[in-house]
Amino acid sequence: MNLQTKADELRNELAETERLIDEFKALPEEHRLATLLHSKFCHWNHTDGCSWYYAEKDWTEYSHKMWAEKAAKVLAVSDYAAAEAIIEVL
Ligand SMILES: [Zn+2]
Repeated sequence: MNLQTKADELRNELAETERLIDEFKALPEEHRLATLLHSKFCHWNHTDGCSWYYAEKDWTEYSHKMWAEKAAKVLAVSDYAAAEAIIEVL
């Protein structure tokens, strides 16, 4: 692989990462927190145990709804910033 090809790949990866960050920031707090909770606490097999990564991301299927409900319960007793900070250190 030449350096130009590697640089192009890294630029594409950066653009995709920035797109994902923008997509995440555009979510409502409940869904952002649900995403953080899921990434930290879901230990199911993501091939056939948890549908998070292959289900429709419209928050209507089981795994997204379940984590969104947990996020709503957290946001009922905490603001988003505090909850995010706590989750980060757990
Ligand atoms: Zn999961």
